[in-house]
Amino acid sequence: MEHLHPPFKHPAGGVHDHELCEHVHPVHWRNPQPRDPYPLVVIGGGPAGLVAARKAARNGIKVALIERDLLGGNSLNFSSLPSKALIRTSRLYADMRNAVHYGVYPPAHIEVDFALVMERLRRIRARISRIDSAPRLSAEGIDVFLGAAAFTGGHTLEVDGTRLRFRKALIATGSRSMLPPILGLSEAGYHTNETIFDLTALPENLLIIGGGPVGCELAQALARLGSRVIIVHKHPLFLPKEERDAAQMVADALARDGVEIHLNTNAMKVWVENGKKCVQTWNDGNIATIRVDEILTGIGRVPTVSGLGLDAAGIDYSAQNGIRVDDFLRTSQRHIYAAGDVCMEHQFVDTATASARIAVQNALFLGRQRISELTIPWCTYTDPEIAHVGLYVRQARARGIPVITYTVPMHEVDRAITDGEENGFVKLHIHDGTDKILGATVVARHAGEMINGITLAIVAGIGLKTVARVIHTYPTQADAIHMAAHAHQGAGVSPWLAWLMRIWLHR
Ligand SMILES: Cc1cc2nc3c(=O)[nH]c(=O)nc-3n(C[C@H](O)[C@H](O)[C@H](O)COP(=O)(O)OP(=O)(O)OC[C@H]3O[C@@H](n4cnc5c(N)ncnc54)[C@H](O)[C@@H]3O)c2cc1C
Repeated sequence: MEHLHPPFKHPAGGVHDHELCEHVHPVHWRNPQPRDPYPLVVIGGGPAGLVAARKAARNGIKVALIERDLLGGNSLNFSSLPSKALIRTSRLYADMRNAVHYGVYPPAHIEVDFALVMERLRRIRARISRIDSAPRLSAEGIDVFLGAAAFTGGHTLEVDGTRLRFRKALIATGSRSMLPPILGLSEAGYHTNETIFDLTALPENLLIIGGGPVGCELAQALARLGSRVIIVHKHPLFLPKEERDAAQMVADALARDGVEIHLNTNAMKVWVENGKKCVQTWNDGNIATIRVDEILTGIGRVPTVSGLGLDAAGIDYSAQNGIRVDDFLRTSQRHIYAAGDVCMEHQFVDTATASARIAVQNALFLGRQRISELTIPWCTYTDPEIAHVGLYVRQARARGIPVITYTVPMHEVDRAITDGEENGFVKLHIHDGTDKILGATVVARHAGEMINGITLAIVAGIGLKTVARVIHTYPTQADAIHMAAHAHQGAGVSPWLAWLMRIWLHR
């Protein structure tokens, strides 16, 4: 039976969004005749689902990929990619305003055309969407079904009235924005990451609820482009998971860019007055009202588990933590696996794709892999960026591991000085008495790039002595890692050896 899928309406429209939809949810897409049964069905066409379906197809497995809304998932359409396109423009604008520090007079009047900024974002999103387009996936041997999937039993599911049978299944339905329980918020109207990239005019005033990575990245980008941005964050510190000095640097950078920061503050209620959204806040007994044009919520993500028929398939889950999986990513039904945001503690694209590869490996091939064996780096793309991998000092201490930390401030790194990008540091946490790297935090303009070398060393079991021996190109900001390795080498000379060397040199 051939099935014509109803057209998916993308909220913004416009030529680039039209191209995007032609790729990731074509209006005239016809779902294929289902094969009976599929060795593997994948539910959700975000980063996790795409990687899983491609891995299976490349190995000759007939696989069905089911996507409810837009292929590419959150990452392509509403999060990682559009936010990075916006951040790029905001950095350029900040650099232009700062040009005089590099000996260049900027034109007297630099103007942001926000509509053009957003058009660029949509053009880039449409271009990248070609890679994950429905026709391309189909040409790669994947049966692409557009429609919402729901289990009807342990080995069956339905997509818009069509029944699919499967031997193995992978749930990769991702996550969606968590809504804060604030009186009047829905009536007043608000943005989430799913609507903010549809803006065509820069809000004069914007309140962001939540000072996590998403809130901080978008606050800085929009403030740099000219919005008056206010963040209310209910905790006493930003980025609570990160090391304090690192998070403080980001808070200072945001403040320098003009973001108004209200820590320890709760948004209590919202109403509309004279066309403005009025937000009542509470801070340690003090009540205040903030008036803005737009509100963005960024307090966190919740896994997408509703409407999936998980009970019909007998799969354990909770609304808060998502689908319960074991170390091999099996759900409570051992032939059904899960990957990505819907089941992972760390909600990143890299984790989603790595977990998807493991799930498909374990579901279909020999040689089982454990999720606990992954080393997961992450980065918040503020300016400076803040990236981390491995253990924090507090975690190492909690496990009884003695730690020594080597810190190199970026203002001692030649390339950071020549680039005028001296804010930040590289911190390497080493198992004391050895050269084993336990973890690292990098705060630097390109921390997300720099952390990859350290992740490679941790995964490959390369110690700091070897890192010190590796010649790093000069001058680069990654030289900071090399400098930290050399600090460890210097510190490694025991008093006895130092005494022997002195005798030898003065003989
Ligand atoms: C603003 C923002 C910025 C971010 N930036 C970064 C970043 O820079 N780097 C990074 O690593 N991570 C970033 N993230 C996180 C990243 O977007 C997610 O971790 C990633 O998208 C998770 O991939 P996924 O495949 O698990 O889920 P998703 O991308 O959420 O995809 C799941 C898909 O499943 C589909 N689906 C759901 N239910 C059904 C159903 N019943 N039937 C069929 N299909 C269904 C959905 O429509 C969706 O397309 C950011 C997140 C946000 C909000």
